[in-house]
Amino acid sequence: MSEKRHYTGEQHGQRLVQWLNEYLPNQREKRVQLLFKSVAALNQTLAQGGGAWHGRQARELQASINKQLIPYIDRYECFLSHAGSTFERVPAGQQNYIDNLAVAAIVDLSNRRLLDRVRLCDHCKKKWLFARFATQRFCDIKCQMKEFSSSEQFKAKRRDYMRDLYWTKKEKAAKPNLRRSR
Ligand SMILES: [Zn+2]
Repeated sequence: MSEKRHYTGEQHGQRLVQWLNEYLPNQREKRVQLLFKSVAALNQTLAQGGGAWHGRQARELQASINKQLIPYIDRYECFLSHAGSTFERVPAGQQNYIDNLAVAAIVDLSNRRLLDRVRLCDHCKKKWLFARFATQRFCDIKCQMKEFSSSEQFKAKRRDYMRDLYWTKKEKAAKPNLRRSR
């Protein structure tokens, strides 16, 4: 068995990321996406601390989220096998199984204070990622390299600019009476 590192929330994080990356703008999926956005907004509001959780904004988001969660209430079903009976949680009938998994991921990550680790890539702004570390910002190594090289180009440009500025100033300093004589 190969050794694999486990990161907190990774299973749900990757599941939600996959769901978001395969998102289709149909009615059903729009509902899950709205839930994701609402929970993220609530956590952001609460992160402001102080009395934020007493605030109107937080309470309105809470009410909206609880309303949105109603169709996703899980139920249990009894399964029989040679090993005996097993009770498993099954999604409510009218909902899509995959959506239920996405919703389970949203609530689990939020409970662990990890929902903000599900992020839109900072370079392509198209793909979602689960950040294993708080600082992770890119969906893959390609986007990271592209971002890095563009910031390197930016640094090089700034270096040239600063050098030009330095020489301009030096030239001016060398001829202080030039301006006065005009
Ligand atoms: Zn990307």
